[in-house]
Amino acid sequence: MPADTLQFTCIRGCTKCCEQKGWVYISDSDLLAAARFLGMKADAFEKRYVVRTRHRMRLRKPPGKQCHFLEEGGCSIHPSKPTQCRLFPFWPELVEDRKEWKRTGRYCPGIGQGPLIQIGTAVETAHEMKAAYPAMYK
Ligand code: SF4
Ligand code: SF4
Repeated sequence: MPADTLQFTCIRGCTKCCEQKGWVYISDSDLLAAARFLGMKADAFEKRYVVRTRHRMRLRKPPGKQCHFLEEGGCSIHPSKPTQCRLFPFWPELVEDRKEWKRTGRYCPGIGQGPLIQIGTAVETAHEMKAAYPAMYK
């Protein structure tokens, strides 16, 4: 694989990234989109599913599961899933660090499969993360 490319395709039916330990951070527009998708008012969605700290918001975790919205067949809010879920694995900390990208491939079977992607395109995609979660990428 050329050094200026990454290789990735998402594998149908896979939910490995949703099963990893960690937080799903959400932006204001992620919150509104998910609430709208579920037919809920934003404040009701927030009360039920969101933890708000000083600079960030993240989804609550239900007992024994990494995410409320993870179901057998995949993400139950797929069309409106949060930015970090939609962009994965094109996160700045992964596309800008080949070692981290490779490490992520230990659980993401789509890494190393599918089309070659120019690094510039991957970095541009990852930029959306910086815009959505400015407190995380100061
Ligand atoms: S772990 Fe990788 S292949 Fe699996 S759903 Fe997530 S992004 Fe797609
Ligand atoms: S919101 Fe959907 S895509 Fe994101 S972690 Fe939860 S189940 Fe996975």
